[in-house]
Amino acid sequence: MPELPEVETIARHLNEALPHRTFGRVVVSRTDIIHGDPRPLGGVLTGRRILSVRRRAKRLVIELEPDIHLVFHLGMSGRLTLSPYRRPIEPHTHLRIVVRGTGQELRFRDPRRFGGVWCLTGNGEYVGKRLGKLGLEPLDMTLKDFRRLVDRNRQIKALLLDQGIIAGLGNIYCDESLHAAGIHPLTPASALDPAQVPCLLKAIKGTLRKAIRFKGTTLIDYRTADGLEGSFRTKLRVYHREGQPCQTCGTAIERLIVAGRSTFICPQCQA
Ligand SMILES: [Zn+2]
Repeated sequence: MPELPEVETIARHLNEALPHRTFGRVVVSRTDIIHGDPRPLGGVLTGRRILSVRRRAKRLVIELEPDIHLVFHLGMSGRLTLSPYRRPIEPHTHLRIVVRGTGQELRFRDPRRFGGVWCLTGNGEYVGKRLGKLGLEPLDMTLKDFRRLVDRNRQIKALLLDQGIIAGLGNIYCDESLHAAGIHPLTPASALDPAQVPCLLKAIKGTLRKAIRFKGTTLIDYRTADGLEGSFRTKLRVYHREGQPCQTCGTAIERLIVAGRSTFICPQCQA
């Protein structure tokens, strides 16, 4: 599932290509993935100027004039690409939006359909409510914020995965950050040593920034906005490396289940 670095990679690319452009023809192949404003999407979007593209949590938000926000949730298998409109259309492409004057169109493809598109017409406060309860952005968190958030009697990994507390982290980057900080995922957050808290925050930010530099992690489905794979997979130190040696100490990486999710740890480094 795309997490913060993957969505950030797509948002940065689109934010270089789209602002000041105008949306043209809209083709919806599956209406059940479109939510929000009940009017036909073409009627709302065609002819509207794009102001910006940004990420909030794991969602991508395209802001248009006036007070229109098009929100994409990539779910498990969603892809949002900017493709030449002469390129063949892949199966499961549910939405296409021409970007006038570029020869390109935005394509949203989602075979498993856990994702979707929300067309939100209204002021920023309304849009914020429709995005749901989302916690702090990890890259913006101060140590003071983080100390307050982790002062809870919950397993640290479950807490980091909770989008209502910290928004954007998922399975890959939780496991990588906990390994980088040398913390076992089952540790109660409130039992972390005072010195471990800044260490973990530094590990989270460092891992996310590095993953953004490598344009995210492609395991199966994720692609950047130009349809390429993210290359952070080659940098993973524990995630999906069960049985392989820890790159820090050589111990075999183990897999366990935490908060219902496959979790990868080095039993030596994260004792
Ligand atoms: Zn190790």
